[in-house]
Amino acid sequence: MMKLEIPNSVLPRVVIIGGGFAGLTLAQKINKQHFQIILLDQENFHTFQPLLYQVASAQIEPQSLAFPLRKAFQGEPNTYIRKTQVLAIDAEKKSVQTQDGELHYDYLVLAMGAKSHYFGLKDMEEHALTLKTLSDAVDIRNTLLSDLEDWENKGVQSKNWVVVGAGATGVEMAGALADLRNKILKLDFPELDPKALKITLIEASGKALGAFAEGMGDVAVKHLKTLGVEVLLNTEVLSYDGTHLQIKDAQTIQSQTVIWTAGVRAQTVSGLEKFQLPNGRIGVDEYNQVLQGKDIFCIGDQASMQTQGYEKGHPQLAPVAIAQAENLAKNLVRAVFQKPMLAFAYHDKGSMVAVGLGVGVVRVFGKVWHGFWAFIVWFFVHLFQILGTKNKIFILLQWLSQYRSYNSALRIILKSKKE
Ligand SMILES: Cc1cc2nc3c(=O)[nH]c(=O)nc-3n(C[C@H](O)[C@H](O)[C@H](O)COP(=O)(O)OP(=O)(O)OC[C@H]3O[C@@H](n4cnc5c(N)ncnc54)[C@H](O)[C@@H]3O)c2cc1C
Repeated sequence: MMKLEIPNSVLPRVVIIGGGFAGLTLAQKINKQHFQIILLDQENFHTFQPLLYQVASAQIEPQSLAFPLRKAFQGEPNTYIRKTQVLAIDAEKKSVQTQDGELHYDYLVLAMGAKSHYFGLKDMEEHALTLKTLSDAVDIRNTLLSDLEDWENKGVQSKNWVVVGAGATGVEMAGALADLRNKILKLDFPELDPKALKITLIEASGKALGAFAEGMGDVAVKHLKTLGVEVLLNTEVLSYDGTHLQIKDAQTIQSQTVIWTAGVRAQTVSGLEKFQLPNGRIGVDEYNQVLQGKDIFCIGDQASMQTQGYEKGHPQLAPVAIAQAENLAKNLVRAVFQKPMLAFAYHDKGSMVAVGLGVGVVRVFGKVWHGFWAFIVWFFVHLFQILGTKNKIFILLQWLSQYRSYNSALRIILKSKKE
């Protein structure tokens, strides 16, 4: 049986599944003198998901949001990175089954994040675009740009671009589509009429940004309407066949470009079923230990820690994933030295979204504000969080160029040979 070519060690082995915000932070922060660390991910890079919508709308390059995992650990002792997909866990045998072989662990950390969730709408899953990975973002970019080329070539009268789900991703995506139409169309496609391209944001519940502080959703909707986005609240989508989007109690929208951002569900693999809550997340205690699991921990979007104030688990956000990883880095050392572990406490520093380039809606220090200066706060908070100095500089330059002229050279349709 293959063992991913990892040498034996006298140190306890920590296998971390997932090099996202949670897994990467844990692997970086944990004291390598006490453990052999193995980080497994199906990709060879970490993705900065909060800015994926900007790749999707051709504002920034895909590479600026990807950070090679191996680069993060150059020269680190006792640390092994393996690009492989995990297929199953055997908690009795303390082993992880991957597509490249099996691996024993002393401690297992699940940090596999979440994937798009379609609430049983199979045809939506088949035909709509979604925004969860870098490949998804490049797919959307290709589709939008191809759509505009087609529009001009075929001389159709009008176009509809639809975003389903008015959470942060949907709001930011709709704002970026509006920028693309309002600013770019006249530069690249002067023969097309921007007014004939309709952008619609659809939300099943009664408000946008439902998980955010009161008032933020209303302000975001107001700004989206200023950009010319039609926002349909209390509107349930029933089906989509690739050209017709069926809406409950309403007419059908004709669109070949529907972007689904309406839900996520925790990732999982075989063997984890007994630890999963009905919502798919893994139940953990205040130390991120999996309930009823021995030497298994779960952090980030995949975990659900139900504590006072967070009865449904913490929000699936990057700061939560990072903070849980930092706490677990300390707790694993404490476990080895048989010291009591530290309970996780989340200090919510705020939340924010961008509504197009130049308008932000933010909540910091308990206050909600919006407009250009809120956008500047959003801008620097995101820039600061991106991994790697080179990526930071590239993104800053791309943003400055976008903001000055909206005329970047990124609007290329780049498809793989198979397509
Ligand atoms: C479009 C978008 C916008 C967002 N915007 C914001 C925002 O503005 N602010 C904010 O705070 N949060 C935002 N989020 C949420 C934030 O990105 C997540 O909360 C965060 O990524 C969670 O970190 P994680 O480590 O738990 O999971 P992830 O970062 O998703 O990492 C999971 C990792 O596990 C790997 N993996 C999964 N399954 C397997 C497997 N079977 N085998 C091997 N590897 C596997 C994946 O490849 C991935 O690298 C956004 C998310 C999306 C999708």
